[in-house]
Amino acid sequence: MSFNMLVNLQDLPANGRQWNWTLPKSLLEDPLRGTVDALVDLESDVVWNGEIRADGQIFILQGQWCLTLKRQCDRCNMIFSFVMQGESVQDFSLFPLGKEMLEEDEIDTCEHLDPPGLVDLLDVLRESVWLAYKPVVVCDGGCLGLCQHCGVNLNIESCKCTQTHVNSAFAALKNIKFD
Ligand SMILES: [Zn+2]
Ligand SMILES: [Zn+2]
Repeated sequence: MSFNMLVNLQDLPANGRQWNWTLPKSLLEDPLRGTVDALVDLESDVVWNGEIRADGQIFILQGQWCLTLKRQCDRCNMIFSFVMQGESVQDFSLFPLGKEMLEEDEIDTCEHLDPPGLVDLLDVLRESVWLAYKPVVVCDGGCLGLCQHCGVNLNIESCKCTQTHVNSAFAALKNIKFD
């Protein structure tokens, strides 16, 4: 299946353009496609739904995406499936628009493109994912991580280290002389 991901704003139909795709991970990970850095370590195909339509001089893009990445937990080092979902909202104009022509909330988000105004929905998606990408993730909020002393994964097994340390802490207390 091929996806026509290029939108020509100048030729945009009056009712805009809608898409409802499940994109293969191979496409999102292909460094030869698009101009935004390819995604990495995808575990699933990527759902990408959205719409772009004209509103006066401005083209408004709104979309939602969902994907699963293979990530490494920052605490226990385990590789796990990390689900990401996000929203992409962007405005485009084919002519440089003066601030007086834009709504307050559009001034920072409106991107000017030269006619005919080509928008690559692959780039828009990748950019949105990278913006939402967290450099550090944990497999679970309650992840116990690795033992600082012996290195075992405390989610899977327990070790004697904590106990020993607690004991030695008590032992140390015993040695303190209270007058
Ligand atoms: Zn973890
Ligand atoms: Zn230990």
